[in-house]
Amino acid sequence: MEIWQKQLQASITDPQKLTRAYGIDPAPLEAVAAKYPMRVTPYYRDLIKYVGDPIWNQAVPDERECHDSVCVEDPLDEDNQSPVPHLVHRYPDRVLFLVCSECAMYCRFCTRKRKVGGADMQITASTISAGIEYIAAHPEIRDVIVSGGDPLLLSDEKLDDILTRVRAIPHVQIIRIGTRVPVVLPMRITSGLIRVLRKHHPLYLNTHFNHPAEITSQSAKACERLANVGIPLGNQCVLLRGVNDDPQVMKQLMHKLLQIRVRPYYIYQADMVQGTDHFRTTVEEGLEIIKALRGHTSGMAVPAYVIDAPGGGGKIPLLPDYLQSLGADVVLKNYQGKEFHYANAAERELDEPLEQEVNRSY
Ligand SMILES: *Cc1c(COP(=O)(O)O)cnc(C)c1O
Ligand code: SF4
Repeated sequence: MEIWQKQLQASITDPQKLTRAYGIDPAPLEAVAAKYPMRVTPYYRDLIKYVGDPIWNQAVPDERECHDSVCVEDPLDEDNQSPVPHLVHRYPDRVLFLVCSECAMYCRFCTRKRKVGGADMQITASTISAGIEYIAAHPEIRDVIVSGGDPLLLSDEKLDDILTRVRAIPHVQIIRIGTRVPVVLPMRITSGLIRVLRKHHPLYLNTHFNHPAEITSQSAKACERLANVGIPLGNQCVLLRGVNDDPQVMKQLMHKLLQIRVRPYYIYQADMVQGTDHFRTTVEEGLEIIKALRGHTSGMAVPAYVIDAPGGGGKIPLLPDYLQSLGADVVLKNYQGKEFHYANAAERELDEPLEQEVNRSY
């Protein structure tokens, strides 16, 4: 058995195993874990410094999960936008393909809390084949996001098989993997897995670090291995109360990500997912974080801040008010709050050619 498999086997799935050491009554948390499964790898548990710290809050069940009267089960309407089970086709040119129902850790704030790790999320060889057939039958799909659950919990062989079949579809230009494994189970990034992944370029990987304390020598090593075989790494983090709702913490996270060769991609406003209301911040707090980053640090360290629109409208970017007014005089505000003016160009005459023919093939 490989080290990562031993980690999974030794994972904590019963709150009692964790809370006892801290003198906390496990009974209420067991009721929560019965509804929303718990799993914490020993590696991730060892990052906990104290009860209620940013690591604890992401990993350990909380009574408030069962008393959420604000949020809904499937706010992004994923289930209604799935033409076949476990494949979400929201944007015309790309799909989200869920290939594994399990995760190394069940994050308490998960957007797919309604299904990950539960009996309802039945992913089988036949749902995977149906997904691949759907992609093959839709030539407009040029980007496939392989996600879950966590696709890197599949065996090397299963993952290789899926990637090979997706890659064989001529109109699929790029494949992206969405995984939290570098954060919660970095020892999964084995040389065997690397040999599989490097065969399927152009392959991108987006991971999910939420706090600087998650960046350890082991997670850095996992990212280094991936980057060394030419896989561009991005990070999608979620803005979470009690985890990273602080501009200085976010800035430190972005800096540490760049040091381990991971490019910040998104900060998500927390989705309105049933059982996660206690994690939500205001949108103003998100905008303050972007204000604290843009101009104050490397542009490379500034991700896009987005709200994934309830009802399945897709990701909508939010920016502080840099653009003050748009017309012949473009009025701008810089990161220091100073005003600047840009003289807009004249609008194009109607008889000018609209688009060069050569650009059409893209
Ligand atoms: C997030 C998401 C995508 C990818 O969006 P990008 O902005 O291209 O990263 C695609 N499909 C679904 C259903 C998504 O939720
Ligand atoms: S790893 Fe991702 S899919 Fe799995 S529980 Fe965490 S947020 Fe949800």
